[in-house]
Amino acid sequence: MTMTVPFVAIGKQYEEFREEILQIFDAISKTGHHVLGPHLHRFEESFAAYCGTRFAVGVGNGSDALTYSLLAHGIGAGDEVITAPNSFVASAWTIANVDATLVFADVGDDYNLDPEKVEAAITPKTRAIMPVHLTGQIADMAALKDIARRHNLIVVEDSAQAVGATQNGQKAGSFGHTGCFSLHPLKNLHVHGDGGVLTTNDKEVAKKVRQLRNHGLINRDECEFWGYNSRLDEIQAAIASIKLSHLDRLNDRHRQIAKRYGDALSDFVRVPVVRKHNQPVFHRYIIRHKSRNELARQLAERGVETKINYPIPLHRQQAAAELDYKDGDFPIAEQQAREILSLPMHPYMTEDEIDHVITSIMDIATTL
Ligand SMILES: *Cc1c(COP(=O)(O)O)cnc(C)c1O
Repeated sequence: MTMTVPFVAIGKQYEEFREEILQIFDAISKTGHHVLGPHLHRFEESFAAYCGTRFAVGVGNGSDALTYSLLAHGIGAGDEVITAPNSFVASAWTIANVDATLVFADVGDDYNLDPEKVEAAITPKTRAIMPVHLTGQIADMAALKDIARRHNLIVVEDSAQAVGATQNGQKAGSFGHTGCFSLHPLKNLHVHGDGGVLTTNDKEVAKKVRQLRNHGLINRDECEFWGYNSRLDEIQAAIASIKLSHLDRLNDRHRQIAKRYGDALSDFVRVPVVRKHNQPVFHRYIIRHKSRNELARQLAERGVETKINYPIPLHRQQAAAELDYKDGDFPIAEQQAREILSLPMHPYMTEDEIDHVITSIMDIATTL
């Protein structure tokens, strides 16, 4: 009898918080106050406090947090922005869609931007660096901030996968000029649909983003510049607040599972490299193996669901064709794309499920 181990279990989290969520849904619906109200305000206050920043601004999704970070700093046509080629596509298209020039730099064995490669990619046109804390581990922020200081660059942290992760005890989203979070259902802190939040210590940036998300309005009737409509609505903000108060426990469970995986599997596959001073949240637990596709196929046969985050590096996407990158430009990211495999990871995994993943990988890997 094979056991089925799902990759994620979003429905299980709903079961845990169902009563609280239904109550708040009912309470907010009765007021009829659905956007820009007290629940958003409360979530923004508590999220900023959680991250250790002065401000947090709720928006419609993580991609808009990235977009508004660039717009609020006046980044656009003629400016270059450096990011990682192994991220989710939003890290790239948000740069392209503000008309800035997308520049990639290769990553290290922690899947994050390699500061030396970033420095080598800097030109007189470079305006910003967008490190992505991929898999839930913070990039080398001391080195990246040092580069940014020396070259006078804006740092936009794509923290979509790293809510709650720390480096030297400091939280993701509090290192850069802005931190950008997604509250999409697949993220460690998630709402019931799309959502996002931006963190910053800069009062002017916070003010600008509050306007950008709300049509460019300064009050009900006066519009200072053409903006967007991208708000975190009251019900989603209230759900985010409920989950935020449990986030550390949920992330701890991710770390426990990661430890079980790592202790058991390090002789069979390449397990994640955790850099000194980092406490990751393992949004994804990614192993590497030369016969990745065969490993994934046989795991599926045994009921273990896996994914590849991500199989096609951004510079090899059709959308990036005009940038004229080619195979071999980012050899580390390309090699990783051929070998990486994401294992099931969510706070509701049972010990039996974890054991099944581990013994299946041990069995299969010894034959590959
Ligand atoms: C999920 C994600 C985003 C985009 O967030 P959305 O809320 O889906 O817009 C951006 N960057 C990374 C690294 C992500 O994982």
